[in-house]
Amino acid sequence: MPETVTFLIAPLTADAPAVDLDSTFHAVDASEPALRVGELSTQRGDGIFETLAVVDGHAQEAEAHLERLRNSAQICELPEPNLAQWRAAIAAAVSQLPASGEFALKLVLSRGVEHGPAPTAWLAASRAADRTAEREHGIRIVSLDRGLAHDAAAKAPWLLLGAKTLSYATNMAAIREAKRRGADDALFVSSDGYVMEGPTSSVILRHGDVYSTPEPSGAILRGTTQQSLFEFLERDGHATEYRDIPVAELATADAIWLVSSVRLAAGVTALDGTAVPFDAAETRRFNDYLLSPRD
Ligand code: PLP
Repeated sequence: MPETVTFLIAPLTADAPAVDLDSTFHAVDASEPALRVGELSTQRGDGIFETLAVVDGHAQEAEAHLERLRNSAQICELPEPNLAQWRAAIAAAVSQLPASGEFALKLVLSRGVEHGPAPTAWLAASRAADRTAEREHGIRIVSLDRGLAHDAAAKAPWLLLGAKTLSYATNMAAIREAKRRGADDALFVSSDGYVMEGPTSSVILRHGDVYSTPEPSGAILRGTTQQSLFEFLERDGHATEYRDIPVAELATADAIWLVSSVRLAAGVTALDGTAVPFDAAETRRFNDYLLSPRD
């Protein structure tokens, strides 16, 4: 099988006729053309996506991702996704992947061709990059100003903060800036001095035995991995909290992680060039859990 396979489908919204996945759903080689020129030239990043991990044939946290897709569609005023169809499409995509190994499955719902009749939806699966080094040895990060106050979502809802939109150019630019500064990844901080999130990840801090992550005020994405890890920690009797975290608290943390669906948990070893305590054993425990089948 090719390293990347694209599964094309459309439009999978509640107001569109249900798609017969058996006849419409087909796998195409990633090197083959699949999307119309009209789609690519007019969509302006005006759409939403999800990336979920498929581990040994199991789609991780599929329902949490579908719920966030529904929420993103609502924020962006896109037609409501037909979740039953998306669920079936995920199952069809997973059934065509090898039974073992880690894959990234991307779900996309774009507004479609300009003046076109319906949105366009598609799924694309690719083998996940090997993230072993980051999981085992951690990452160096730099803090970058997001240029927004932490309550920006309420003041400027048209920024679509809190939706996972296709417009990730600034997130990718932040990662490039982090690399220019000799780090592996970035951590966004608000212009008024609060911790936010990574460009493609959520952040978790530990002070003593208390795990915290920024309040989901709408300015950041609600992370499925962070929420799953908090449930794991709570089941284990640990205290977790959502709150506004001043940037100064990064310097007093006993550990910091960036977490996301495909990379899983990466412990931070340095922030802005200063060493951060790295808990290899706990990070391993997190990743063992995150690699186990999760619904
Ligand atoms: N925040 C941002 C901006 C992201 O892009 C992502 C994932 O890509 C996350 C947080 C983490 O989300 P999840 O754990 O659901 O992958």
